[in-house]
Amino acid sequence: MAEIKTIGVVGSGTMGAGIVQLIVQSGFTALLFDIDKDTVDRASDSIKSRLDRIAEKKKASIEEIEQAKKRLCTTTDLQEFFKCQLVIEAVPEKLEIKRAIFQQLEKICSRETILATNTSSLSITQISGLIQDPERVAGFHFFNPAPIMPLVEVIKGLKTSINTVDTLVGFAKKLNKSPVICKDTPGFIVNRVARPFYNEALRIMNDQVASVEQIDRIMKNAGNFKMGPFELQDLIGIDVNFATTQSVFSSFHGEGRFRPHYYQERMVQSGSLGRKTGGGFYSNEV
Ligand code: NAD
Repeated sequence: MAEIKTIGVVGSGTMGAGIVQLIVQSGFTALLFDIDKDTVDRASDSIKSRLDRIAEKKKASIEEIEQAKKRLCTTTDLQEFFKCQLVIEAVPEKLEIKRAIFQQLEKICSRETILATNTSSLSITQISGLIQDPERVAGFHFFNPAPIMPLVEVIKGLKTSINTVDTLVGFAKKLNKSPVICKDTPGFIVNRVARPFYNEALRIMNDQVASVEQIDRIMKNAGNFKMGPFELQDLIGIDVNFATTQSVFSSFHGEGRFRPHYYQERMVQSGSLGRKTGGGFYSNEV
């Protein structure tokens, strides 16, 4: 397998942009793709200003940051991904979109290229189901914010090869992350454990046992969590969080303990998706 030097990232939203920042900071070249130029340019600008802030805080030299910026390339032409030894897909949590992208990637990339998905909860086996070499497909699940959170789940689909898993584990270590190998089960490890954290918080709020602010404060002060369940939903994106809950619920064939809460659905319907839309459970000052 060729040495990983250039990494393609499909989708320049919250996760794609964070993963690209991490890649270029770690000395690798990133090729960031999105459906239109405005979106990818906006993401590139925000990655560059986040890198500048790192230099301002003197956590890296100006020279190091300038070099990192040079390793950031953008495109709206997926054909350019022929250059990549690894591709990480970070598009919305919709099976059809992800499957279509993998089908395109398998035609563009060399057979050696590892194709990874940052899915939070969809089946790796299913995402790779329509392509010829599912051995080279795996989950590579970063957490938000990707440059900061140490954990990465490496998920082995039913047909993923050990070689693919080992390569991703080795690459995660080069990014200074702590990889953990997971089976392809709904929600993997973290998102399965996290479902009741959000769902019960929504039920407690809706039953008027405690307010959004009280629940978050209690979890932080008594539970020592860095963020409460509502602050976290605003950070993650309420739509993204809801999609993950729906997917885990349906993958467990409707087990009641994973049932999504209608209040979260109403938030999505109202367009209040969290920080990315200027507010969710909190206004943006959180
Ligand atoms: P997002 O909505 O912020 O970004 C998605 C991006 O994909 C957008 O820029 C959009 O323009 C682009 N896109 C849509 N269709 C596309 C296509 N066909 N081709 C290329 N780009 C396309 O989403 P996100 O929060 O970054 O989530 C991306 C993935 O990462 C999802 O699978 C999600 O479950 C997972 N994830 C999210 C978080 C989180 O905290 N937000 C954490 C871990 C994993």
